[in-house]
Amino acid sequence: RGDGTAARGATARQLSFVVSAQRPLALLGGTFDPIHLGHLRVAWEAAEALDADVHLLLAHEPPHRPAPVASVEQRVAILRAALAGQQRLHIDLRELRRTGPSYSIDTLIEVRAEIGPQRSLILLLGADAFAGLPGWHRWQELFDLAHIVVLTRPGVAAALGAELQTQVLAHEVDTAQILATRTAGAIFHLPVTPLDISATQIRQLLRDGHEPRYLLPDVLLADPSLLDAYRLGAGN
Ligand code: ATP
Repeated sequence: RGDGTAARGATARQLSFVVSAQRPLALLGGTFDPIHLGHLRVAWEAAEALDADVHLLLAHEPPHRPAPVASVEQRVAILRAALAGQQRLHIDLRELRRTGPSYSIDTLIEVRAEIGPQRSLILLLGADAFAGLPGWHRWQELFDLAHIVVLTRPGVAAALGAELQTQVLAHEVDTAQILATRTAGAIFHLPVTPLDISATQIRQLLRDGHEPRYLLPDVLLADPSLLDAYRLGAGN
């Protein structure tokens, strides 16, 4: 275990070998437009498998995709309702406080500064999001700040680009334990229950006048106004 003073002066790469004393902090970013059982179940399984605190990080203006259909306020209300009654998954609204695109690198820099150098930080990515990583702003620097844990997602084409494959070869580990004993820099594939649920599918069902029951938490259907943005909205 490194001492705090030495760690402050160390480079990010050196920090990745400091043993963490706390539970890992894992972030699952998304537009959550709306949040569904795919997100919730894989986040839950990651929390248990990695013994991590999981924060669902709501993206404001995602740089890689069209604008969300529901407003930030509506998506926050849906998230709050969906997470009620449990203690393992938390909402993180930090990206809403920034203007401009929500770059993950900026978020990780901010979170790393907050938690300090000695705690393991994990970016959770569904397999589809992971495959798109080379399109992200300063993506290769993410490994200096956090581990990346890739979550099973059905229907994702397996082929990764050459650059990403190079990073996988350099960073992949085959045991989750490393994620708790180093603070950053590993890639780990965590097998979770494959759930072929997407927000796109749910928006489509609502737009067509169907009820997406059993694809998202029942509580979201108990209050019809929560999902009105999708019933009445003209988004994709
Ligand atoms: P959309 O259909 O609008 O693109 P989405 O269902 O993919 O939305 P996002 O909010 O874009 O949801 O996803 C946030 C994160 O959760 C991403 O890393 C994504 O890969 C992951 N994720 C979403 N749904 C699942 C699922 N069913 N299984 C595993 N990971 C998922």
